[in-house]
Amino acid sequence: MSIADNIARIKSQLPPSVELVAVSKFHPVERLQQAIDAGQLLLGESRAQELAAKAPQLPQQVKWHFIGHLQTNKVRPVVAHATIIESIDSLRLLQAVEMEATRTSRQIDVLLQLHVAQEQTKTGFAIEELLTHATLQRLDNLSHVRIRGIMAMASLTDDNSQIQREFTLARNAFELLRDEFFAHQPLFDIVSMGMSDDWRIAVDCGSTMVRIGTAIFGPREY
Ligand SMILES: *Cc1c(COP(=O)(O)O)cnc(C)c1O
Repeated sequence: MSIADNIARIKSQLPPSVELVAVSKFHPVERLQQAIDAGQLLLGESRAQELAAKAPQLPQQVKWHFIGHLQTNKVRPVVAHATIIESIDSLRLLQAVEMEATRTSRQIDVLLQLHVAQEQTKTGFAIEELLTHATLQRLDNLSHVRIRGIMAMASLTDDNSQIQREFTLARNAFELLRDEFFAHQPLFDIVSMGMSDDWRIAVDCGSTMVRIGTAIFGPREY
């Protein structure tokens, strides 16, 4: 199956309201170009350097989603190239992105990454922690950053009911944040969850954006 076939197949199974981000990390730009030629303009990268290397080689219309753990000292190339940073996992990072966006007069969208999986290796805010930040208005007063919603990853497990529980927790947290803290902001509307192996479950649980790599590009190449 070609990259174009894979994208077409997945799109035919996704509800029209759910956006597809093709996760292109560790694949060469020639393969990304094939996705772009198939009309896929949302691409996901997880490393600052890799994004900075690839973005200038591909058309301007590409909307880059940054999805990896980001260190505060690496925000510069990401703010320069990304349309949205999906992986805001600390207040420090949120502030660093706001500072860099302000410094360079850019507007950037972000998602708050929630930690709902069992693995401790995954990053993200615990839900209670995030609600505390929201209550204490620590997510307010951003001039160049717009918080658009949440991102979450489920545990790496074959237990579908476990995955479903975790995605449901994330969706519920999104709705609480939306209704209690972002009601004044109509564009708090993104729930990014679901990868190659669990996107169908994620969509059933209310995902509005799936991030799919392997099922589109095949195994990662480097
Ligand atoms: C790599 C990655 C994906 C895509 O994973 P696949 O299993 O290849 O679809 C999605 N989200 C994040 C945050 C990733 O790091």
